[in-house]
Amino acid sequence: MKFEGSFTQQEPIPEAGIAAANAVMQSGRLHRYNTSGDELGETALLEKEFAAFTGATYALAVTSGGYALATALRSLGVEPGHKVLTNAFTLAPVPGSIAAVGATPIFVETTEALVIDLDDLATKAEQSTAKVLMLSHMRGHQPDMAALVDIAEELGLSIIEDCAHTMGGRSGNVVSGRHGLIACYSTQTYKHINSGEGGFLVTDDADIAARATLLSGSYMLYDRHGAGPELDAFEPFRDTTPNVSGRMDNLRAAILRPQLAVLPDRVARWAALHDAMEQGLRHVPGVHLIRRDPSLERVGSSFQFVMPEKRAEWIADFVSRCSARGVELKWFGAKRAHGFTSSHRNWAYAGRFALPRTDRVLAGLLDMRLPLTFSEADCATISEIIRDEAGK
Ligand SMILES: *Cc1c(COP(=O)(O)O)cnc(C)c1O
Repeated sequence: MKFEGSFTQQEPIPEAGIAAANAVMQSGRLHRYNTSGDELGETALLEKEFAAFTGATYALAVTSGGYALATALRSLGVEPGHKVLTNAFTLAPVPGSIAAVGATPIFVETTEALVIDLDDLATKAEQSTAKVLMLSHMRGHQPDMAALVDIAEELGLSIIEDCAHTMGGRSGNVVSGRHGLIACYSTQTYKHINSGEGGFLVTDDADIAARATLLSGSYMLYDRHGAGPELDAFEPFRDTTPNVSGRMDNLRAAILRPQLAVLPDRVARWAALHDAMEQGLRHVPGVHLIRRDPSLERVGSSFQFVMPEKRAEWIADFVSRCSARGVELKWFGAKRAHGFTSSHRNWAYAGRFALPRTDRVLAGLLDMRLPLTFSEADCATISEIIRDEAGK
């Protein structure tokens, strides 16, 4: 049996998004500040809607998730030479955003539940001079957020949440991205709403919102924001904040608005796919599922499992046997970065780190996308192939 679906095939843009994008193109007004009178463009409307969706006071739409992360650091005053704490298990744009502002990532260990190790966080925060934690909710896994917030408060750490994989999810009763000072999201093609490239930054802090807006390249047109702070908030920063252009445009915003409206429905569909994968792989010898935190409403846009008893050579062979049968697995234990998958060992610009616990977890960690073009029957087929190959 071979699986014929494509792990990289997303759904089409909803018709309403295509119509709205056409209208923007016909208007010729693609730049977000190219509006007439009091008219709110698609980008400003999207920001208002995203602020309402998350419950944040302010939302800023930008060109990418990575840009939002770097802007968050800049608006907190992170400068070259500063240290920023972050999870060792994350995706390349996270340490990349820290490097983009000339700062240095300090990687914190990862537990078997694929979340940040809170003891190691406390140790590294005390050892370093870091004042910022960039907490990546990698693949939707999250630590006990109440405990983490307490620790961060005690250590004087500001939290930036990377919600690229949790947009639309919740932790406890809190919308993902509402525990920290700033949260960043991505609308890149493989995330939960798709504009090719794009991202958001949300915060309740008017100073941060003003600085981030100026950084994003608002020139002196920031009064045209739909979901930005009052004009006085900009006054202290308007002449001292560099313009690091990274605005979202109206075309992307037009594509995103109808997708944001159906995000809760997408989250429910992803949950069904994720449940189907869990069910299919529950009792497979050698395959361990990741402990599920019942207080999390995860967005099941990807699926992870670990094979801790297997040697590297066996896993490499397993991955290629699955691939030959149409099942594309990503392996975090590979020596070289491959496709979208890399680890701290491949981020040499950041320096070398001893992360034995993370390395033990990553050595057996396998990961796959679950695009919404898959059905539950597809998940059953994929599980069957994995089960079959795991037994060889
Ligand atoms: C995709 C992603 C980002 C940001 O991605 P962009 O491609 O810059 O939009 C950040 N963090 C994680 C974990 C991601 O997967």
